[in-house]
Parts: sequence; C-alpha cells; structure tokens
Amino acid sequence: MSGTSLKCRECAATYELGARYVCENCFGPLEVSYDHSHLAGDVDGLRRRIQAGPQSIWRYSDFLPVETPPGVGATNLSRAGLPAGATPLIKADRLAERLGLGEVWVKNDAHNPTHSFKDRVVAVASQRALELGFDTLACASTGNLANAVAAQAAALGLPSYVFIPSDLEEQKILGTGVYGTNLVKVRGNYDDVNRLCTELSGERESWAFVNINMRSYYAEGSKTIAYEIAEQLGWETPDRIVSPIASGSLFTKIAKGFGEWLELGLITGAVPTMNGAQATGCAPVANAFAAGTDVCRPVKPNTIAKSLAIGNPADGPYAVELARRTGGAVDAVTDDEIRAGIRLLAETTGIFTETAGGVTTATLAKLAERGDIGHDERVVLVITGDGLKTLDAVKGTFESYEINPSFEDFEATVEQGVHA
Ligand SMILES: *Cc1c(COP(=O)(O)O)cnc(C)c1O
Ligand SMILES: [Zn+2]
Repeated sequence: MSGTSLKCRECAATYELGARYVCENCFGPLEVSYDHSHLAGDVDGLRRRIQAGPQSIWRYSDFLPVETPPGVGATNLSRAGLPAGATPLIKADRLAERLGLGEVWVKNDAHNPTHSFKDRVVAVASQRALELGFDTLACASTGNLANAVAAQAAALGLPSYVFIPSDLEEQKILGTGVYGTNLVKVRGNYDDVNRLCTELSGERESWAFVNINMRSYYAEGSKTIAYEIAEQLGWETPDRIVSPIASGSLFTKIAKGFGEWLELGLITGAVPTMNGAQATGCAPVANAFAAGTDVCRPVKPNTIAKSLAIGNPADGPYAVELARRTGGAVDAVTDDEIRAGIRLLAETTGIFTETAGGVTTATLAKLAERGDIGHDERVVLVITGDGLKTLDAVKGTFESYEINPSFEDFEATVEQGVHA
C-alpha cells in the first residue's frame, strides 16, 4: 500500500485507509496522503520502473492508494478490470495557429475504455472497494461516470447501481444500460441525485459508491492524467493546464499529481498555471473566482454541458484557491461558445469531443483572445470525453449537400455551393 492515511483537508486529522470520506471533527473532505521517502534518491531507477510498467494507470501504482494493482496475485482481487489511461498527448499546431498561440497539446482522454477520463477514477475506486470487501459498485453520475461504473462492474463481474438525472443525453443513457447495470433515472438534477446517493450509502453498507464513500480513492485516479502528461513531455511539466471543472476534483488532483512528482525530483519545472473551465449555465466556481471569494454559492444548472452540471461542487473552494495560487483563473463560456469550441477542436485536430471538451476549448480560445497566454508557453488542453456521447450539441452547426447520383447534379450543386 503506497498511501499511508486519510487526512482531513481542513484540520489535518488523520484516519486509517478505510471507507471514510468526511472528517469526524470538522466534516472536512478526506484526502489520501503518502510517504514517498522510500522512492526518493534514485530518480533514474524510478523512471525506468514506471516505463517498464503496464500501458495503463497501473504503471503509477506507487502513487495510488491500492494494496495491489488489479490483475496481480491469485485472489478475488486479481480480477483485471478495464485498463484505463495511457491516452494520447497530441501536439495541436493548427489549433495553436488559429488561436495565435505558441505551443498547444491536447491530452485526449476520450481514448479510454468508455471514452471519458472517468475510467481512471473508477479503476482506482473499484480496486480499493474490492480490497475493502465491498460487493457492489454504485455512483451518482452526470453521465460519464455512469458509463464507467457500469462497464467496470461488468468487467469485474460485480452487480452495480447507477443513479443519473433523468434528463441525461440519450447516448449516455444507452451507453450505460447496455452493460446490464441497475440504471436508476432520478427525477431531479445531479445535486438531487447526489443527495439521494449519500443517504443510500449510509443504508447499504456493502455498496461502494465510487464518488461518495470511495471518494478519497476515486479522486486519486485523476492524478494519473498529470503523471502521463509529464511522462509524455519527457519528464517535464507544461507551463499551463486548461481543464474542465464539475466538482473540482479532476482540476485539483491534476495539480496534486504534478506536485508529488516535483517534490520527488522525478520531473522538472513547476506546478503549471491552472485554468479551470465551466459553462455559464453552471458556473459556481467561475462565479466565486470572479467575486474574489472561495465560497461557491450553489446554482441550478442550465447548460448543454451536462457532464459538468454540478451546482454545488464539493471541491469548488480548493479549485478557486488553486487557480489563484498558480496565477490561473476559472472562466465560464456560453452554450454557443461551447458548440463553437467543439467545432474548433474538431476542425483543427480531428478530435471530436463532447460538450465538456467544448467548454475547455472555448475557454482556451477566450484566454488566448484576452492575451493571458505568453507565446513561449507550453499549454495542455485536457479533453475529457467523446463527442459521440453528446451528438445533439453539433446538430445544425454545419451544412451539407444533397444531390442526385449524377455528374450534372454534382456540378450544379456541390461545385456551385448550393447547400441542402
Ligand atoms: C466528470 C467530468 C469532468 C470533471 O469532473 P470533476 O467532478 O470536476 O472531477 C470533466 N469532464 C467530463 C467529460 C466529465 O465527465
Ligand atoms: Zn477535519
């Protein structure tokens, strides 16, 4: 086990590594803390060990809160599960050029088993859940987590219960139900779903709600995006990260990942400038940043970026603090800007992202326009999900031709620019 304890982010009280997620003293959130001192010193050896590891997040198991990575050993816990991570980092020169920037990279986390970064967090949470003796996986989801939990449960041969807002995108509902989960559509928004699941996690003691009672372990999975980016850039940090924010977990854990490796001397550079991205229709963190406070006043979400539609973000205050401390910001973009962001990324990189990626790309465009990004900066845009899951968002954003199967009609229509 590479984690040593669960530590309260507010009062620093420590607890053993069980299924606990809030502090008994102050109700603050608990985070896994580590003692990496045994890894310090031999940087080259540690790099080699990582490089010799599997092509998945489990090459970083020294930095993850599990006793054994899945697929190792001969017990019940040796079930391999779905391999997450090892996603491409692509240099996006045409996107950089369009935005007048020097160097932009796209971390394309749509390249995961269920096409979003949620496979990373679910892989860690479900492995820890098995180690702690849970027999059922569950979650409160804005969409992608539902896909990831249902698929991981199928891969592990576990029953699962997945709770979603009833108005989710059809592609995300279909892409969850197909795995044979108990799919529960709740008449309400994500914050209602989360409240119900928090209550249920107290009532169903053998259920691991990956983002509730397993949240401290779940959150650690997001660090692996930072590890991969650093490794892919040749053991260096980028100058700036642009990442979406829903609960604020991903955003804050990316910085934690870079911080841990910098402290060990495994990578060079500094914690990047952290820019958070939200939709105007659900921007409690961007609002707090703009108001100069850490207090994220809850909002009622109304945006096409449903995967980011958390009105009461658990890690919001830490996200605001991180953006401020690193010289970054948290910005919000409108639904029209989100659609334009999806198109911009698709046209310049060949990557079709879901609405959350539209939020991130539109935020990058906004930062570029505002002149916030230096020409010498190396920027990484974190793309967290696949456009095939939110197809409606691009309906009506382009034109096409329709012709009879004849050369004459091709000439008269396509070559004359007469759209359908
Ligand atoms: C869940 C999710 C996020 C962000 O989640 P956090 O709660 O902030 O960790 C970002 N993008 C997509 C596509 C997601 O599904
Ligand atoms: Zn506490």
